[in-house]
Amino acid sequence: MSDTTPLCPRCAHETIEHIFDSPVPGVWEVVQCGRCLYMWRTSEPARRTRRDAYPEEFMMTPGDIGAAPEVPAVPPLRTPGG
Ligand SMILES: [Zn+2]
Repeated sequence: MSDTTPLCPRCAHETIEHIFDSPVPGVWEVVQCGRCLYMWRTSEPARRTRRDAYPEEFMMTPGDIGAAPEVPAVPPLRTPGG
């Protein structure tokens, strides 16, 4: 693990879960925020991986997360010829 505490770029949460390692060990990791579920690969640019470089318009607060609308359900498949 890294010796610095990573913060979620999107919501600044401190609980970051390790999801996956690169096939060649030590090249990158995929990690995910435990609160807002934002997921990123550690080799992505700073604007995707660092709180201090993440675009302000995409940042979320706990209030934003609580008020976020439900993710829309996937509609049923269309029938052939329909
Ligand atoms: Zn987050």
